[in-house]
Amino acid sequence: MHEGVPAYLAQLLRAQYGEETAERIAQGYAAQRVVTLRANPLKTDAQTVRERLAAQDIETSPVPWYADAMIVRGAREDALTGLDLYERGEIYLQSLSSMIPPLLLGAKPGENVLDMAAAPGGKTTQIAALTGNQAMVTACEMNKIRAERLRYNVQRQGATRVTVMNIDSRNLDDLFSFDRILLDAPCSGSGTVQLGSPRSKGQFSREFLSRTTKQQEALLHKALRLLRPGCEMIYSTCSVLAQENEEIVSRVLRKTGALIVPLELAAFDSVPRLPVSIPGTLCVAPDELHEGFFVAKIRRMK
Ligand code: SAM
Repeated sequence: MHEGVPAYLAQLLRAQYGEETAERIAQGYAAQRVVTLRANPLKTDAQTVRERLAAQDIETSPVPWYADAMIVRGAREDALTGLDLYERGEIYLQSLSSMIPPLLLGAKPGENVLDMAAAPGGKTTQIAALTGNQAMVTACEMNKIRAERLRYNVQRQGATRVTVMNIDSRNLDDLFSFDRILLDAPCSGSGTVQLGSPRSKGQFSREFLSRTTKQQEALLHKALRLLRPGCEMIYSTCSVLAQENEEIVSRVLRKTGALIVPLELAAFDSVPRLPVSIPGTLCVAPDELHEGFFVAKIRRMK
């Protein structure tokens, strides 16, 4: 296995995927990740963003499954964060994989949407953009400083129908009820490891994994209590470990009677995938364009 992969993570990857796929994941960790962004249709449009970036000698290429997304090969993040476009919230720097859950959530204008783990707000503001500010979005974040960051990003992106709550979403009153829920759960970050990067910040120990999986399970149970019967939610993590993904989903589905809704993935052919043990879910393989990510759609039955 590639040098630098934390030993406990390497052990879990080998046990889950076998040597060959674990090595492919490690190569993804070693790849230099390319900058990607999303044009914000609440403020501008993708063509204008492309032209404005080209005027600064920043070339972009399109993403086949999302007209607002673009790949920026020739520039580093700090070249973009210095631009007016960024300051005015006309773009949002976001990994391609993390744009997938809001697309698959499919929120519609007029719906009441809950984002249970929202900061810094990439997906919250994307839901606002995808619904043209016509859905009511409640965005929860338990960490005070991160909740401030979320408020700032929501405001800068012009997401006018988002209510930010600085709260542990496990403590939300069960009297609330939502038409759609995104649970982008806190996780080990095993999909986002970047070998050699000081910004790589996954955590890998038996104790950490045990703590985080307990949180994930409690959050998913809560989500299914807050979701209106018959409605659908997305569970996602930036982890490629079954312990945080399929195992959580399977346990909670068994206890609640909720069902998996197979994801519509026809448009996502270009996204590299890892094998999953629940058909109809998605696990993105890390590579230079993608972080590792897991996505499942779940319907509450009763
Ligand atoms: N969805 C975010 C985005 O796209 O920008 C990324 C979310 S990050 C994976 C998880 C976030 O959930 C962290 O900011 C963490 O502080 C927060 N969090 C963890 N447990 C939580 C809980 N029980 N209630 C609310 N927020 C929580």
